[in-house]
Amino acid sequence: MKTLLPTSTAGSLPKPAWLAQPETLWSPWKLQDEELIEGKRDALRLSLQDQQQAGIDIVSDGEQTRQHFVTTFIEHLDGVDFEKRKTVKIRDRYDASVPTVVGAVARQKTVFVEDAKFLRKQTKQPIKWALPGPMTMIDTLFDDHYKSREKLAWEFAKILNQEAKELEAAGVDIIQFDEPAFNVFFDEVNDWGIATLERAIEGLKCQTAVHICYGYGIKANTDWKKTLGSEWRQYEKAFPKLQTSNIDIVSLECQNSRVPMDLIELLRGKKVMVGAIDVATNKVETPEEVANTLRKALEFVDADKLYPSTNCGMAPLPQQVARAKLSALSAGTELLRSELKN
Ligand SMILES: [Zn+2]
Repeated sequence: MKTLLPTSTAGSLPKPAWLAQPETLWSPWKLQDEELIEGKRDALRLSLQDQQQAGIDIVSDGEQTRQHFVTTFIEHLDGVDFEKRKTVKIRDRYDASVPTVVGAVARQKTVFVEDAKFLRKQTKQPIKWALPGPMTMIDTLFDDHYKSREKLAWEFAKILNQEAKELEAAGVDIIQFDEPAFNVFFDEVNDWGIATLERAIEGLKCQTAVHICYGYGIKANTDWKKTLGSEWRQYEKAFPKLQTSNIDIVSLECQNSRVPMDLIELLRGKKVMVGAIDVATNKVETPEEVANTLRKALEFVDADKLYPSTNCGMAPLPQQVARAKLSALSAGTELLRSELKN
């Protein structure tokens, strides 16, 4: 990456109203069959164009190809029954009806590889593709087969590695694993969570990232944040082990969060995607606010390793707000670039 402070989004972007209900997570598709395939590709092109017009350096599909960041991947696997549902507590926070693991999990065919090839054809810019992480996957299911969170995570890690290798071959520059569960299950993160993530990236030559956030800007998450007190020190638990892991990039939530910025020092040597856009408010950051957050992070990340980003996905935001936030990210980053040149 030659650009100083390359910008990117941590996750999803809003979907067009003709494809899915706007401002909603898990929004059902409005199209079917061939029309849905075409519609997702059109939406991908629009989302790419939004990122390009805002001047984003590392682009993505805006997650237009999936309904949900975890379940869409799982839907493509054997061993999970989507009809057989159980209510479980997701990340110790909110109840959700989830599918059941009923047999050995396996991936018979690729999940996102054709979509990634399609994105690759649209642009010469570096592209990033997101996959769910093993620990977040197991936390979104009821396991009636392995009856061991760890065992199921290792199985998913193997499957993710197959998919990741094919995404790399399709020309993806950065593969990102979404692990919000790393901010909740600290003992498991250190016992086997990071190890399963390393299994998922085994043998990859492209860059790899792990995204750890405090969740989308939905009520269950914003209510949870209110209980976390004046300082959020969750990152402190996972960072030391992540620093010694093979993961190249760590993606964090920093804008309007109560994470003490000096915790990033624990990652020194890693590249850090610093979330400088709050996804839980429609208020658009000013370029100065973005630059302030990035400037603070620069005390703990070397400039050549700082990747300005959003806190999390923006799927639940109105289109215009998301576009304005992308532009603010670029403009704020540009302010800091010019300071660094002087
Ligand atoms: Zn996130």
